[in-house]
Amino acid sequence: MTSQECLDLLRGVKDVAFATVDEQGRPQNRIVDVMIAEEGSIYFCTARGKDFYHQLLATGRAAVTGMDAAYRMVRLDGRVTRLGEQRAWIDRIFAENPPMETTYPGESRYILEPFRLEPDRIEFFDIGGEHPLREVVLDRDRETSLFVIGDGCIGCGTCAAACPHGCIAEGTPFAIDQSLCLRCGLCSESCPVQAIGRRR
Ligand code: SF4
Ligand code: SF4
Repeated sequence: MTSQECLDLLRGVKDVAFATVDEQGRPQNRIVDVMIAEEGSIYFCTARGKDFYHQLLATGRAAVTGMDAAYRMVRLDGRVTRLGEQRAWIDRIFAENPPMETTYPGESRYILEPFRLEPDRIEFFDIGGEHPLREVVLDRDRETSLFVIGDGCIGCGTCAAACPHGCIAEGTPFAIDQSLCLRCGLCSESCPVQAIGRRR
């Protein structure tokens, strides 16, 4: 999957979960429409009276998760920017999402303000098949944690036997197929010589 294909998946789902943190650092979550997905960003809007609006301005960040009917899921987080040319963006959002007129008829639409979310990190999951797939599509800050087998591996095979997805191959050292790994940590807990660690 490319970054844009992931954003297009979220646009297709449209109603996705947006997470922010409030003034006390508590996580907050709500469903928000993805109004536009283009040029590596998604666009959405919210009303000036909402806590969500103020959390976006205070933190400048949001995390988004959405899953389609085929159990393909995208998770991302990134930087949020309040857009200029506010009325022009709101008019475009309404033109491309006609049901919005029902909720905010006439001039009331301008209580909404448009935002762009530019992802720093995108992960794609396909959990509809026999083996769940996971792909780090974008990781600007290299923050994604992976389980990795180090040189301390003595080749006992305990991790491969314990792995629920059979994604550890024999070798020197043994190796994890990251596209299949659930990052459950069972291999790390099973290794008798602590050769498996979390790495960013
Ligand atoms: S359990 Fe540890 S030592 Fe044994 S094969 Fe796996 S990584 Fe290597
Ligand atoms: S973290 Fe879980 S799924 Fe991934 S290799 Fe280890 S045991 Fe297997």
